[in-house]
Amino acid sequence: MTSFFKTALLASTLIFATSCQTTMGTATKADYPDNKYGLTDTVERIQAMALNGSYGYDITESLTTEIGQRLAGSPEEAKAREWAVEKFKAVGLENVRIEEFVVKGWERGLETAEIVSPFPQNLEITALGGSVATPTSGITADIAYFPTFDDLKNAPAGGLEGKIVFISGRMEKAHDGAGYGPANRKRQMGATEAGKRGALAVVIRSVGTDSHRFPHTGQMRYAEDVKPIPIGALSAPDADQLERILKRGETIRLKLTMTPRSTGDLISGNVVGDIIGSEKPEEIILIGGHLDSWDLGTGAVDDAAGVGITLGAAQILLEAGLKPKRTIRVVAFGSEEVGLVGAFAYADKHKDNLKNHVLASESDFGAGKVYALRTSVQGPARAELENIQKALSHLGVEMEDGQTSGGPDIIPLYRSGVPAIRLQQDGFDYFDLHHTHDDTFDKIEPEAMAQNVAAWVTMIWMASEADVDYRDPSESSDDN
Ligand SMILES: [Zn+2]
Repeated sequence: MTSFFKTALLASTLIFATSCQTTMGTATKADYPDNKYGLTDTVERIQAMALNGSYGYDITESLTTEIGQRLAGSPEEAKAREWAVEKFKAVGLENVRIEEFVVKGWERGLETAEIVSPFPQNLEITALGGSVATPTSGITADIAYFPTFDDLKNAPAGGLEGKIVFISGRMEKAHDGAGYGPANRKRQMGATEAGKRGALAVVIRSVGTDSHRFPHTGQMRYAEDVKPIPIGALSAPDADQLERILKRGETIRLKLTMTPRSTGDLISGNVVGDIIGSEKPEEIILIGGHLDSWDLGTGAVDDAAGVGITLGAAQILLEAGLKPKRTIRVVAFGSEEVGLVGAFAYADKHKDNLKNHVLASESDFGAGKVYALRTSVQGPARAELENIQKALSHLGVEMEDGQTSGGPDIIPLYRSGVPAIRLQQDGFDYFDLHHTHDDTFDKIEPEAMAQNVAAWVTMIWMASEADVDYRDPSESSDDN
């Protein structure tokens, strides 16, 4: 998940309630409302397949085990595209292809940080994506401490010459990830704000909610008119350590060495496959996750899980022998982490056909249970999407008001007027793992994954069958 997503999250009011405690199990007819599609038996069957099977789980296991980390533009991301082509074909998708685009490459080098004085010791650090390097001999300097990013922003111009800036500030834990947006400002803009004031380098408290000794990476940006300086993230316990020393009234001298480098223009790509619609093949319901990950863990919760959940849902329709009326398109986006590069490439390549994208959604918030359905669709079609929620209520899914842009990789489509829908997941623990060495497959809970797949397969099936136009011209296309 990138920063773009937070705008939507911030605007949200969480309706978590007790919905997530709903017991899972095979659905019974009594669980469903009457609906006019006569699909009760079908919905019951596909939900049972999801809940009793391991569709998404197995796909996620395969991607994280057989490929591992998948940095944007890397050879591993290329292998992941080949993996995806094979999986898409194996489950029975048609027109499976890679849509290539170019991405600016970056790779990590050595990264070390140590307190030189007053209490010499090593710290755990990782470079932020896109950061420039320190000299190979490192930068040794005194720390200038800012308890929060706003403290740095409000600091006078200049005055940080010769210093390594340390920005702390804790991220609040929330089921909907609402703490990410505010906490992430220092990651994205810390180097610019410190650089403007003359600093040599920046270390931040990791953007995360855990207390483990894993630093969190993630993309940063430089303003064009400010000299770029290196920026890294310390693990939370290491940030605590610096703050304990500062509390003693000491001046901390830090040595920081990071040698990442830009690797120029590289090939990335989106993998696309379809279940061709039987009655309205030109109308596309687009779902997916992103194939790339950061290079520290194996990108299990971010976002092999999203690829697994959405491809697993499509697989169920195909195994059940169902022929959706509209085309169900699955996309495994490339290069999401470095700025939604694959998402913009998709929107650009398909710009003349976006009017036929009738609904779009991405799963990119881990594998915690779905607790709510949210959609940008208004007007008569909204009621049809509310029927989907009703068919998911026995799985603990509520209807949630408010906007959604459908997930990070859907944002460019949404901005072009494509209706968005989102199955909101419980991400209470998501930012414990996000962008760390600890984002690995063992964190995925099979039962929660199955509930996700059940929700997605219900959503794509019912949305493809409903006899409505989600593209209500009266709705505004960009409320974010
Ligand atoms: Zn993600």
